Amino acid sequence: MMAYEYDDQNIFAKILRGEIPNDTVLETDHTLAFNDITPQAPAHVLVIPKGPYVCYDHFALEASDTEIVDFNRSIAEVCRILGVQPGAGGGGYRMISNAGEHGVQEVPHLHVHILGGRPLGRMLQRM
Ligand code: AMP
Repeated sequence: MMAYEYDDQNIFAKILRGEIPNDTVLETDHTLAFNDITPQAPAHVLVIPKGPYVCYDHFALEASDTEIVDFNRSIAEVCRILGVQPGAGGGGYRMISNAGEHGVQEVPHLHVHILGGRPLGRMLQRM
């Protein structure tokens, strides 16, 4: 099985330790959500697990059921807070989780971007 090495000096680890500030949207026992410092849409929130997971597949393989449920319910709660849920009259949103080199992941701690508040265009440019 592939092993991930977690770098505890990444910026989100520092946020979780309280070493640098964040603009919190939601906090639970296992999850933190905060506004992206460089928003790319009117709503742009990052949702991260508190545990040391590099990217989504790492988390999905190694996190506890409790962490996984908490993380996913937190994503839904962030969508509710932002008012973007299409099922509740919101305009919708996009979830993105970049991983590794091809995914152009800048911060090596799992994060899901929730973007909304305007039409977001096509997901990817056609090759
Ligand atoms: P990614 O390319 O998916 O790794 O995205 C990393 C995201 O983290 C970018 O959208 C950055 O704007 C965001 N970011 C970096 N540092 C901070 C910070 N201190 N607080 C909030 N968001 C940050």
